Amino acid sequence: MTGALRWGLIGATTIAREWMIAAIRAEGGVIAGVMSTNAARGAAYAAEHDIPLATTSLDALFDKVDAVYVATTNDLHYGQVLAAAKAGKHVLCEKPLALNLQEAREMVAACKAAGVTMATNHHLRNAATHRAMRGAIAEGRIGRPLFARVCHAVYLPEHLQGWRIKDPKTGAGVVMDITVHDADTLRFVLGDEPIAVTAMIQSAGMGEGAIEDGVMGVARFKSGLIAHFHDAFTSRYAKTTFEVHGSDGSLFGADCMTQRPIGTVTLRDKHGEALLPLAQENLYERSVRAFQAAIRGQGLPSASGEDGVRSMAMAIATLEAAHSARETAVEPGL
Ligand code: NDP
Repeated sequence: MTGALRWGLIGATTIAREWMIAAIRAEGGVIAGVMSTNAARGAAYAAEHDIPLATTSLDALFDKVDAVYVATTNDLHYGQVLAAAKAGKHVLCEKPLALNLQEAREMVAACKAAGVTMATNHHLRNAATHRAMRGAIAEGRIGRPLFARVCHAVYLPEHLQGWRIKDPKTGAGVVMDITVHDADTLRFVLGDEPIAVTAMIQSAGMGEGAIEDGVMGVARFKSGLIAHFHDAFTSRYAKTTFEVHGSDGSLFGADCMTQRPIGTVTLRDKHGEALLPLAQENLYERSVRAFQAAIRGQGLPSASGEDGVRSMAMAIATLEAAHSARETAVEPGL
């Protein structure tokens, strides 16, 4: 492929408005169209963002683009990704990829069979903080990693208090929304795979009916490491952290489970405490850059389709563990 990549947005969404439209343009991509199920909302969205085409038809969008960014509610990703693969379009899909592992695996298989690049928009892998922790661990700076602790308890902003807390058919709830990110970030930072989970969920009143709005869990990894994760929509004043404690040192990531390019990482070992140097950059721009390069045959996306399946596998095991009150095995990826 030569020239600017032509993108189509599937869904007139908040995440595209807040981050992805700017990130695609910053990386030289052209947004050629947006597909919305509502013609008037789609047209207004296109006008607001200077997008030449608004359509309610996926096929009309596919006619004009090389790649699609799928960011509709989670229940719709499956059908839309299969359609995009069939049309020969590269796919950057939001997390969670789908509502169940079978659908997610089919999505990866369809993209592979069609010969298109598929990526999952797990933005946190692109954070300087997490990349620095991954590097430090790979270099052996904390010895053998034994424990991890993730605090990703936040307050769901009012403008996002819609389907995530109200509509079970969309795969609502904090586990599919936030625990998937913890799963992916743990896998990335540790270079390890979760094999079993135990968890408790909470419904403190933000999630309607049985939709959980808080969770605490513990995952066991292949290496023997165990990781604690705490996610919520209801914690107005908590700070996010990501810690890894090893035989020879500990890493303290602070303010790092976020969309913004902020945060610090402190290494604490026998020499004392030191801040790791970080080259902060926009997480979504880095995700788009890697995806576009992968399409051109240069390297891999930050998070592949299979990474999206594996993060979902840990989230689904978390829900099963919470509902059964039993330690639950995490299914393998593909
Ligand atoms: P939105 O609620 O903004 O959009 C989801 C769907 O809702 C859209 O496809 C759109 O339908 C419809 N919609 C949007 N606005 C309105 C409105 N005002 N009235 C009626 N319907 C509307 O979703 P988000 O942007 O919050 O999330 C989308 C996806 O992105 C999810 O899968 C989520 O998990 C993921 N996400 C990922 C993040 C990340 O950092 N990786 C961060 C945030 C979200 P239509 O298709 O018809 O236009």
